[in-house]
This record gives sequence, C-alpha cells and structure tokens, in this order.
Amino acid sequence: MEEFKNYINGEWIHSTSKQFVDVLSPSDNKVFAKIQNSNSEDVHNAVNSARVAFESGEWSKLTAVDRGRLLCKLSDKILKNKDELADIEAKDTGKPLKQAKADIIASARYFEFYGGAADKVHGQTIPFMNDYFVSILREPHGVTAHIIPWNYPAQMFGRSLAPALAMGNAVVMKPAEEACLTPLKITQLAHDVGFPPGAINVITGIGEQAGADLSNSNDINFISFTGSPEVGTLVQIAAAKNHIGCVLELGGKSPQLVFEDANIEAALPFLVNAIVQNGGQTCSAGSRLLIQKSVYDKFVPMIAEKFSNLTVGSHSMDRDCGALISLKQKDRVLSFIDRALDSGIKKLASGKFSSDLPEEGFYVLPTLFGPVPRDHELAKDEVFGPVLSIIPFESEEEAIEIANETDYGLVAGVWTNDGSRQLRVAKAMNCGQVFINGYGAGGGIELPFGGVKKSGHGREKGFEALYEFCSTKTLVFNHK
Ligand code: NAP
Ligand code: MG
Repeated sequence: MEEFKNYINGEWIHSTSKQFVDVLSPSDNKVFAKIQNSNSEDVHNAVNSARVAFESGEWSKLTAVDRGRLLCKLSDKILKNKDELADIEAKDTGKPLKQAKADIIASARYFEFYGGAADKVHGQTIPFMNDYFVSILREPHGVTAHIIPWNYPAQMFGRSLAPALAMGNAVVMKPAEEACLTPLKITQLAHDVGFPPGAINVITGIGEQAGADLSNSNDINFISFTGSPEVGTLVQIAAAKNHIGCVLELGGKSPQLVFEDANIEAALPFLVNAIVQNGGQTCSAGSRLLIQKSVYDKFVPMIAEKFSNLTVGSHSMDRDCGALISLKQKDRVLSFIDRALDSGIKKLASGKFSSDLPEEGFYVLPTLFGPVPRDHELAKDEVFGPVLSIIPFESEEEAIEIANETDYGLVAGVWTNDGSRQLRVAKAMNCGQVFINGYGAGGGIELPFGGVKKSGHGREKGFEALYEFCSTKTLVFNHK
C-alpha cells in the first residue's frame, strides 16, 4: 500500500506524530493508501521552511520571470503526467474519469496562466505635488497558508498555489484528508522541475488539528481557504487574531433564472450539467432552477427526461455521476432528499444506478424536485450533492428577489434572449459571477471568481487572484 509523506523544505518526511490517516476510494470504500497525520510540530516546521525560503532562500532570489518559467514548467509536467494523475484523482475522489481528466488539465492551466502572468503585474505612478515622484510597488505577503477541500484537489491546488507563487510568496498547503493525493503527486512534479526548497510545503492530516494549527500559526502572513462556512468562520477568526488577511470561498446555492423567451434546447445541457458535474459537490453548482410560470409546464418535463436518463457509476465506469466523497456526505445528501419527500415536495425524476456498481461505494441518485417552496431548506441550504430544486416565478422582479434571498451569493445563470433583461438581471444579482445564456460551474481560469455574504469574500482566478496575494507599498520621492 502506497504511503505518502509530508513535503517540507524540499524533502519528503514522516510526521513526527508517527501516525497515519487511511485513504479510501469512495467508489468501493476500500483503503488503498496512507497519508501522514500531521501535528503542530510538522506545521511549525513547514511554516518555518517557507519563512526561510521567503526571507533568504534560493526562492527569494528568483526574478518574476524565473518564477513564471518554473510555473510553466510545472504546467507542462502536469500535462505530461495527465493520465496517471487523472487515474489517481478519480480513485481518490470517486469522480468519473472524464471529470478527473478535465480537472488535471485545469490544474495545468492554472500554472500556465499564472506562470505567464508572473512578470506582468506592474506598478503604477501617481501624479502628486510638483517635485515629487510617487510609485506603487506590489509586494508578496510572505508566507501564505492554503487550506483546500476534497471536491477538486488537483484544481484547487493550482487555483490556490499558482497565483501565490507567481507573486513570490512561499506557501504551506494543508489539503483535505479525504482527497489529497494529486496535490502530493503534483508537489513531486514541482520538486522535479526545480522549485527551490521551502517555496512549496505540503502537510496532510486532520482539519481540526493540522488545519487549525496552520491557520492559527503566528508566522503566516495570509490565508486562502475553501470549504464550509463553519470552518471558514474559524479561519477568519484565526486570521483576525494575527491581524492578517484571508480569502474565503465557502460554497453557494447558485440560481439559474430561465425566462419564458429562453432557448431551452440550448440551456438544457447546461442546466443539468451545472448540478450533476462532480455529483453536485461543486461550490458553484447551479442548485436552484428558477423557471418562469408561463413556460413551467413546457420546460419541466424536458428537464425531468434528462434527469431520468442520468446514470451513476464508479470512477472507472465513467458515467454521469460517480460516488460522493464519503459515507458522511452520502448520508447528508440522502437526509436532504428524505426530508424533502417527508414534507411533501414532489420528486419529478431521478437517475439510475449502473447494474454492476461496487456495493460499498457512496452512491446517490441525481434527483429533481419541484415545485420547491421558497422557504424550504432545499431552496436555501447547500446540499453539496446531485439534487436540483425547481422554483417557479411570475415576473422578472420576483425572479430577482428569489435569486438573491439565500444567505449565499457565488454564481448565477440568466437565460433570456432579451438583451436589456440580460443586463438588468445580471446587474441585479448579488454574487461574484453571472453567466448569461451559459453556465460554467468552476470553469474559466481567467475569470475572477468569489462570493458575497456566506459564500465568502476575496477573489480567486484571473488577475484578481494575483492582487490578493500581494499588498501595495507607496513610495513617495521628493526630488527637489
Ligand atoms: P470543511 O471541514 O470546511 O473542510 C475544508 C478544509 O478545511 C479541509 O482541508 C479540512 O481538512 C479543513 N478543516 C477542517 N476543519 C478545520 C479547522 N478547524 N481549521 C482549519 N481547517 C480545517 O468541509 P467538509 O467537512 O469537508 O465538508 C462539509 C461541507 O462543506 C460540505 O457538505 C459542503 O457543503 C461544504 N464544502 C464546500 C466546499 C466549497 O468548495 N466551497 C468544499 C467542500 C465542502 P479535513 O478535510 O482534513 O478535515
Ligand atoms: Mg472535515
């Protein structure tokens, strides 16, 4: 059985705890690897290694061009190893192989995009008083901590680390205990392409211990966290105690608004994929489908038919949905479905299990509910599973009101061919990203992404992420 170590100061080492955490495949609930169960000493060593790399190590001496080239080399290396990485990602998370393949390519793309951008974050000069010259420097924070979830380990590794490294920070990552093998494998590739010791440090373990120790470390300068709102709150409290900044991405209950003039044929695959992709375990899943009442009876059967044709299989069967990440997640999703049925909400359709499914896997059928009352938990809470709630609306005004009434605000989709309405509704959405006549759950490395309200704050992806991982210093020269 493969045993993975922590990566600290350019070396693979055991945790001083001498304890391990089992890694199991959600497809069959079988243990197939072991990772380190890191303790506070490991966290301290990882942070210290990053500190030295940032302050005085080889990493601190690289130019922006050199950092960019290293990131691009890592991107190439990921692509060269994409088949092996996709197999591991699929087995570790339970997701269908085609999704894992797309994730690996996205991970490589993060390193390519930020590799190319590393030397393109330029400063600014500001007209001030006569005899003065003012310029703005953008400087890295120092040591940045990164805590990522289990739903897209390879993508999150790239999304979180690539912009931080491009700006010259030294990083410490704690991936999720339930899926962290591709982050470890890609770290080996980073080692192989020549990242200097301490630039990247990865420690595995339990969130409540290693994750909490890392976010509470008083020698980090910034935190990037993706996960649940509950843990996001703890991370923000830790950041506040140390007077440092953080980016929080905490999920959503993203709506898709379908108006009566929408091209439903074009919309259908997007509407279904937005909730089925990765078994609905996507922060930006389109989990609420708002449909105008005048076309409700026409559109809903078309969506129901699509849902009833969806199949669920193991990662290697490569069907529409794989297993969910854990028994806990499966039970959580099933409890939402049971409570919806108990409260009398109509199940409009569900998919099918493949006949030869491994018995012990964490499988849940994609399920379509509607009409779902606006105040029901299915219309408000993040299920994080393949459950789509249809909510009817009468007017544009009501659609906007429903779309904005959850605690979350991450992404929205607007489906209409009326150009004025497209812009009006998009501007009215209280969230960080709006797709018009399209939807890209998790897509688009170039597109700034992030939330408002309980979905978190700060921006990842695009150039915005580079600005999160640095701060400005204003230089004021008197040249009289
Ligand atoms: P979670 O506990 O918030 O996990 C996210 C990350 O935080 C993991 O790396 C986790 O490590 C770590 N962590 C856990 N407790 C911590 C602490 N006290 N201090 C610092 N880090 C800590 O999320 P979950 O339990 O895996 O999932 C619960 C729910 O969160 C899901 O049902 C879903 O609704 C939501 N979620 C959202 C996203 C998203 O993309 N926004 C992703 C995942 C989950 P361990 O995994 O080792 O505990
Ligand atoms: Mg957890």
